[in-house]
Amino acid sequence: MILNEHIIRNNYNQIMEDIKKYSPYPEKVKILFVSKYFSLEDHSKIINMGYNYFGENRAQLYRDKREIFKDEEKYDYLKWDFIGRLQKNKIKYIIDNVNLIHSVDSYELLKEVNEKAKTINRVVDVLIQINISGEKSKAGIEIEELNREYEQYFSFQWVKVRGFMTMLPFDANDEEKMSYFYKMFELKQKYSMKYDYVEELSMGMSNDYMQAIKNGATILRIGSKLFK
Ligand SMILES: *Cc1c(COP(=O)(O)O)cnc(C)c1O
Repeated sequence: MILNEHIIRNNYNQIMEDIKKYSPYPEKVKILFVSKYFSLEDHSKIINMGYNYFGENRAQLYRDKREIFKDEEKYDYLKWDFIGRLQKNKIKYIIDNVNLIHSVDSYELLKEVNEKAKTINRVVDVLIQINISGEKSKAGIEIEELNREYEQYFSFQWVKVRGFMTMLPFDANDEEKMSYFYKMFELKQKYSMKYDYVEELSMGMSNDYMQAIKNGATILRIGSKLFK
């Protein structure tokens, strides 16, 4: 991949414009720069362009980047989220400094993150990943299950559930995208009335961010659309 700063800036600004036009609350919406595609060298260039909110999906690469991008003032302003499937034995690579874990896809994982967070005395913010389409191949918890068991999910001392995340089936059409995202919006509204710190709705990637914006996403996770 050849990194073209001009293209990245243009695409980023275009998405910002779409947020202003189509979001019910533009001031709440953040673009998470999905940086998993970038080597250390290219990532360094992107940091120098001024972007500061990144998402990684592999625990080791997350750890390596955090190891490299530190000890300089410009790195103090960076926020790093984790968005990929997280294995229990890799929580240790991210737990010390992660800003938000988007991909807590089971009660067991939530419990384990809580255990690890406790050992370092740090309350960690997480999102519950929802399997909105109910497809067996998709990660996440189904809404019905959450509704049944939610008190347990919100009962931990060292993890704070700040909202929900979802990924749609790759072949969803526009109408399905709108309807899945709207269900996510309703879910967030419902739980934000029970727990006032539930504020985030992480949804929308390169091929469905427009529908996500319209349905109240607060974090868009954008990768390829930024540099293509
Ligand atoms: C890669 C990835 C994205 C970004 O995907 P694009 O289609 O490149 O925008 C978003 N969320 C997750 C969980 C990812 O793994």
